[in-house]
Amino acid sequence: MKTRNALAGTNLEQAKSHNRRVVIEAIRLNGAISRADIARLTALSSQTISNIVEELEKARFLKAEPAGKPVRGQPAVPYSIDPDGAYSIGLQLDHQLLIGVVTDLSGLIRARVEKMVDRPVPADALPALAETVEELTRCFPAARGKLLGVGLAMPGPFGVQGLTSVGPTALPGWQDFPIAAELERLTGLPVIVENDATAAAIGEKLHGVARQIGSFVYLFIGTGLGAGLFLDGHLYKGSGHNAGEIGHLVVNPNGLACACGKRGCLERYVSLRAAYDFLELPDADHASPKLLEDLQAQGDERIEAWINSAVEPLRQAINTLELTLDPETVVLGGFMPVEIIERLVARLEPLPLSVSASGGARGIPRVLIGATGRETSVLGAAALPIFGEFAPRFDVLLKPRG
Ligand SMILES: [Zn+2]
Repeated sequence: MKTRNALAGTNLEQAKSHNRRVVIEAIRLNGAISRADIARLTALSSQTISNIVEELEKARFLKAEPAGKPVRGQPAVPYSIDPDGAYSIGLQLDHQLLIGVVTDLSGLIRARVEKMVDRPVPADALPALAETVEELTRCFPAARGKLLGVGLAMPGPFGVQGLTSVGPTALPGWQDFPIAAELERLTGLPVIVENDATAAAIGEKLHGVARQIGSFVYLFIGTGLGAGLFLDGHLYKGSGHNAGEIGHLVVNPNGLACACGKRGCLERYVSLRAAYDFLELPDADHASPKLLEDLQAQGDERIEAWINSAVEPLRQAINTLELTLDPETVVLGGFMPVEIIERLVARLEPLPLSVSASGGARGIPRVLIGATGRETSVLGAAALPIFGEFAPRFDVLLKPRG
């Protein structure tokens, strides 16, 4: 049995790794900056910063930029992230679509592959994922030998009897399947698996509207609904990696029946699947967001009717999240067409009274729309292997040892 009744300390190697991430994060968020700027931003000693910068420059993660005119004494050399220092592969698997990207260290997409899938079971998904990795390295050969790893985003929850593989919003047959180990075996690269909402939160934190926000909830509207949680600059994943599985939060005890056995679950109202069911599509298992996009573009009034039905459940969910977590903002995104998300968000006010109502020092709206659209999750997936090296406080400090 694992005992987790004490906080683990941080040893020297972990502290070094943490400081490295702090330095890189400071440069990532602020652009080219000098060692003195880094010292000011991170409160690390100048000796520590010199050592880290030297090490990272040698590894080609950082590059020296031309020095500006000195105010006095020696000119200060600014350092920036070297985008071509290393690369990462992001994969996103969903019910209908497999997207793969190669990104550089700055998060720029350098190659992209898209394949249609059909609610894949592991035996079908695995070769398709491995093939996508192979195709990406063929499209972008510079990545060979410089890949940090593969990040895979897919719908959660993971390993929960009665939730993981059950119902129309879950992918079938994935309960307890060791996807990371299997994909590592096929590709020879380290693989990190994350649920799509958490990956999207990382994507939005690194590249989108949440760059300067320390605490936020990302609501991922996919086939189902999930939340990614960034709290105090720290990704929160939960004890079983399933934090934020709010699709099965009951918002109406007498509401629509859900495949999980309960009634009135949030994702029965707010998700792609909820919209397909509301439209009474003959084959909802094979519907795609493109159909909603087309109906929206045609001004079909059933979209407005669905939005109407989704507003109140979404208000309740936001209220619960605000009161539980006190985030600076809630970010909405995912596979739902952005025009429909915009209409949904426009209808949310007045939001219920909560700790977020005053706005206070926040100066940030209570609800924001994600900036990186449908790519958020795959960008977040690609960031997983980089993020492990780059972001401060990520899985490094206070890591419980079992
Ligand atoms: Zn449910």
